[in-house]
Amino acid sequence: MYTLALETSCDETSAAVIEDGRHICSNIISTQVPIHRKFGGVVPEIASRQHIEYVLPIIKEALDTAQVTLADIDHIGVTYGPGLVGALLVGVAAAKAISFAADKPLVGVNHMEGHIFANFLSHPELEPPFLALVVSGGHTQLVQINGYNSFKLMGQTRDDAAGEAFDKIARVMGYPYPGGPQIDKLAKEGNPDAIAFPKALHEKHNFEFSFSGLKSAVLNYLHTQEQRGQSYNAADVAASFQKTVVETLVEKTMDAASYCGAKKIAVAGGVSANSGLAAAMSAACADKGYAFYRPDPILCTDNGAMIGCRAYYMALDGRFADLTLNAKPALPITSD
Ligand code: ATP
Ligand code: MG
Ligand code: FE
Repeated sequence: MYTLALETSCDETSAAVIEDGRHICSNIISTQVPIHRKFGGVVPEIASRQHIEYVLPIIKEALDTAQVTLADIDHIGVTYGPGLVGALLVGVAAAKAISFAADKPLVGVNHMEGHIFANFLSHPELEPPFLALVVSGGHTQLVQINGYNSFKLMGQTRDDAAGEAFDKIARVMGYPYPGGPQIDKLAKEGNPDAIAFPKALHEKHNFEFSFSGLKSAVLNYLHTQEQRGQSYNAADVAASFQKTVVETLVEKTMDAASYCGAKKIAVAGGVSANSGLAAAMSAACADKGYAFYRPDPILCTDNGAMIGCRAYYMALDGRFADLTLNAKPALPITSD
């Protein structure tokens, strides 16, 4: 069975062809990062226009690379939320048009569920149940994956997402968008114990996150140093900040795992590409005897393949959409 999948929720235009849910035949990703970089972040209007320009050539490239035609495709999956409304609309409109014209069933996919399903592409042996930590540019969530179509949201961030904190701190330190990979690199040369930054909501069995206090503390530190006319050690700031985020994520995930009896932990989303998080989570899992999963780096950030994998398991369960499918910018994760 072949799935054609589209992803246009933010600043990547991507199309993929997936065979039987887990085999990537093609995964074409056109990133707009260099275009948005000069503005220090994603400009929604520019993102929508870029998607319009690229979506059809990228679909064609995905089909050509997979050496299939539309006639071979069994269903079309598309991200319909959460994300930027104008960006989402481009993918949704394209998918609906192809679905109608080629008479192929349509599947509306939740972007965050797609991030989690990237793990199935990188780990053929992985099956539910497991606990997922989703850490991306706009979300931080702990989700129990009880079946391919059965999820339970345990907690999420009350304010900033983990990725958002990485990006804002990097921006103030003068690094280009997106800042996460820059902080990751810088942190390797710094002392993680150089500066003590605060942790929020760290009481037991609290599965909610808050990163805005930490973000403010780091920004205050940078401003204070500046006002005093003192320089700061960027590597130490990056390492100390990253350590605080990573410890919070690992502590809460381990607490959640023992609370719900999970034996397998999977991370997902752009921040799961962070080397410090991967090292700390994998060590904590080894210590507790849990299996640890992380998608290949290219599948951590936005891509069509993860949407195709999620669409396949929805299609198997008969969860199809009709042509009234619309973009839902604040779509919540499906929680039982
Ligand atoms: P969402 O999925 O919540 O809608 P998004 O799609 O914009 O948001 P992703 O593409 O999943 O987010 O991830 C992008 C985020 O990941 C950015 O905030 C980026 O800085 C962060 N990121 C990418 N690589 C790393 C890294 N190595 N370390 C830390 N953060 C990283
Ligand atoms: Mg992106
Ligand atoms: Fe994303």
